[in-house]
Amino acid sequence: MPDFVDLHIHTNHSDGRQSPEEVIDMALELNLKAVALTDHDALSGIAPAVNYARGKPIEVVPAIELSTAVTDDDIHILGYFIDPEHEQLIATIRRFCSIRLERGQAMVDRLAALGMPIDYSEIIALAGTAPIGRPHVADAMVRHGYVESYDQAFQQYLGLGGPVYVPKAKLRPAEAIELIHESGGVAVMAHPGLTGEDELIPDMVAAGLDGLEIFHPTHNRVDRKRYRRLAETYRLVCTGGSDAHNRTGRYGGIGGEKVPYEYLTALRTSWEKRRASG
Ligand code: AMP
Ligand code: ZN
Ligand code: FE
Ligand code: FE
Repeated sequence: MPDFVDLHIHTNHSDGRQSPEEVIDMALELNLKAVALTDHDALSGIAPAVNYARGKPIEVVPAIELSTAVTDDDIHILGYFIDPEHEQLIATIRRFCSIRLERGQAMVDRLAALGMPIDYSEIIALAGTAPIGRPHVADAMVRHGYVESYDQAFQQYLGLGGPVYVPKAKLRPAEAIELIHESGGVAVMAHPGLTGEDELIPDMVAAGLDGLEIFHPTHNRVDRKRYRRLAETYRLVCTGGSDAHNRTGRYGGIGGEKVPYEYLTALRTSWEKRRASG
């Protein structure tokens, strides 16, 4: 049996359900050799995971998933091997979190206008230490019985163009790539098949993109083949993971994508090369 890794996992430090410690326990149970916690706009889950994994047969790759945009789209960029204490990275995230806090209030106002009042403090409590996001609003809507499911909340209200959709502040892809490099990491475009904007890849490559996510639950076989070919063309490293949130209706669980350990080795090599040249 080859060794497997999962390089795309969310925790309750953004919009995942499980704590970093629970993620590590689950990964150990699945016999994964490494995990990357890729919380949205959040670094706070990394230290607890690293501490909890110490002395256990599993490696924790420090990572983050940044939301970027060219227009009103949403292009996710993963940063691997970033320094979670990098000042500029922390400052950027802090700025995004405060904008997210205002955006949450705007969503609550829209819900109230639609006859679905929710006390904002309840959503803040649901989010805990995580940056406030639409998933927390969706949870509160389910709780109040305004929708039957988390998915319905997105389909009818919170999705792009929905009546409760409020855009959030985002970096441009090139800015995110630069920030990830500045903070010592390598940049990987997340789930290109889900994003559906392949035409942006050449510009991202020019900005220094290091890798492309191939293994992702939303990618079918044809997608995987196409992105492998693109990765080869642009000399990008291939990565992947489950994108587990462990929320109902949001992809599969940890380890849901069988990513052989050699992908982490290749990612690490590209990181070492960048460091050596940087
Ligand atoms: P936000 O960062 O607040 O805009 O929320 C984005 C997050 O909401 C994503 O990372 C997903 O976890 C979740 N999400 C986005 N679109 C959907 C959807 N159509 N159905 C379910 N969850 C979604
Ligand atoms: Zn998410
Ligand atoms: Fe994503
Ligand atoms: Fe993700």
